[in-house]
Amino acid sequence: MKLTRLFAVSIAVLALLSGAMLGHIVLTEWNNYRAAADGLRMLELVQKSMLATEKLSAERGPANGLMGDGLPHRALRVQRLADAREASDRALADLRTCIDAGPAPSAAALATLRRVQPALLAARRTVDQLAALEQAQRPPAELTAAVEQMFALVPIIMETVNEFSRSSEQRYPQFAVIQQNARFAVELREYAGRLGSQLTAALAGRQPLDDTAQRQIQFIEGRIEQLRQLIKLPTNSVAADPRLLVAVRAMEQRYFGDGLALVAEMVRASRAGLPYQMDTGQFAERYVPTMTPILRVRDVLLEASLEQARQAYDTAQRQLLLACATGALTLLVLTVLVLIVRRRVIRPLLWATRALVNLSNGDLASEVRGTGRRDEVGDLLRALVALRAGALDKQRLEQERQHLIEELRRSADTDYLTGILNRRAFTVAGQLRMRGAQEQDLSLAVILFDIDHFKSVNDCHGHDAGDQVLIRVAALVRHELRDGEILARYGGEEFVVMPAYCDLNAARVVAERLRRAIEAEPLPLVDGHILRITASFGVAAASGQRAALDSLFHAADLALYRAKHLGRNRVEG
Ligand code: GH3
Ligand code: MG
Ligand code: MG
Repeated sequence: MKLTRLFAVSIAVLALLSGAMLGHIVLTEWNNYRAAADGLRMLELVQKSMLATEKLSAERGPANGLMGDGLPHRALRVQRLADAREASDRALADLRTCIDAGPAPSAAALATLRRVQPALLAARRTVDQLAALEQAQRPPAELTAAVEQMFALVPIIMETVNEFSRSSEQRYPQFAVIQQNARFAVELREYAGRLGSQLTAALAGRQPLDDTAQRQIQFIEGRIEQLRQLIKLPTNSVAADPRLLVAVRAMEQRYFGDGLALVAEMVRASRAGLPYQMDTGQFAERYVPTMTPILRVRDVLLEASLEQARQAYDTAQRQLLLACATGALTLLVLTVLVLIVRRRVIRPLLWATRALVNLSNGDLASEVRGTGRRDEVGDLLRALVALRAGALDKQRLEQERQHLIEELRRSADTDYLTGILNRRAFTVAGQLRMRGAQEQDLSLAVILFDIDHFKSVNDCHGHDAGDQVLIRVAALVRHELRDGEILARYGGEEFVVMPAYCDLNAARVVAERLRRAIEAEPLPLVDGHILRITASFGVAAASGQRAALDSLFHAADLALYRAKHLGRNRVEG
């Protein structure tokens, strides 16, 4: 696998793993946060529904007060009932708003509220109808029924208390005990109210308590005692809450002291057949305030759980933010690290690899970058630069060597003065050509020529002028020859020409052309003299398997000798 691909796959795996891990952490924290937010909302709903229950219970006091009041009603009692009804309506509306405000309003709670509303209106109508009658015309049974109608509202609204309590306990199991105690307090307030209400008919009718009422009072008192014990049982951390201790003490003193004493006084008066000393309104005015500390107990318990729930919510929110921030930071750091590794390790490694491959392929053109770095990659790149420099030196030396060899070969084959081939190179070329002629059964010719009276040039104009003449003659003949016709200096002022494969006559024609050219060429010397020279030519040709270069030269030499002898400036052969 290529390094870039391996890197990409590793990054993808890393991104996937860290993404999954961070996603899991953030999701867990998000769920915790949602559960905390939900739990807090449920607790708020519990509080609101408990408040609505309390207000519905509390409405009974002023209702009983008015039903026990003669006509015309006392303005204060009418006002008190109106205030109580307004408080109930507000608490119910408040509960409704709170339920609606949530993300998934509880259908069961809304249905319960829909059931409470008409029942409440009906109960209020009954109360109003009875209160409108003359006191003597209010049948006790109907008064009891009206009270019962008001009682019946509480179990309905308690359904919402129970529902929201269950939901919040699911989210905050640690608050179950506290909430249960708060519910006990709500229940206690309800039974305390019922206890007072049991006296309504008797007080209103100034009659002793009938058997049913007495039994009810005994039953309710039993239940109240039970609830008292339950509330007083130690509750986990909240047990130590001084606010709760104060509230429980106040409840003990006010309700279980004053409130129950007042009830006991009424019961005693009833049993003794004595007048009650107060009507329902007066009773309510004294009895109802003794129940207030019960509500305080409920509120302290609810406040405690709300405080803890808010803390849990704040913690969950903080942890969610922390998880998100940590996640984002981790991803950022990972990205930066990946970029650094890519930029500082992978890319330079790829450059280095490419540069090494190029070096091994002999391509020294590409420069190596990033050599200023102070790490291992920098060392590697610097080593590469050194390698490249070494290779460049080697290449240059090799080129110089080749050049020198070429130069040597050229000078070994070349006549130093005229620049044409020397006798050795000519012999090699001639032998090659002779082999070709033998193989192809072709005719091969040799032309030897010698400058006439050259000694006198040296003698009259100096050795340098002689050299110049040799250079010019070589250049002239070279110019006259065609491709494939070899020219060499054979020695001194003697030259040899080997035309391409040809017979004797064709070689003679070539020799004649050269002779004329030399003869016709004026040679200006440095001293201003214009020299004219001639040359004598000896031509020989051979063909067949047994032809040999030596004998060909020998024949050409003999012909040249003949040309000299016969008067020079001529072609023989
Ligand atoms: P012939 O017509 O019979 O050939 O007479 P020649 O004077 O040309 O022949 P000879 O053999 O008597 O003289 C050749 C002279 O060529 C002798 C030598 O000094 C001269 N010579 C040979 N090589 C060179 C050279 O490289 N440079 C110069 N300047 N002279 C050379
Ligand atoms: Mg000679
Ligand atoms: Mg000569």
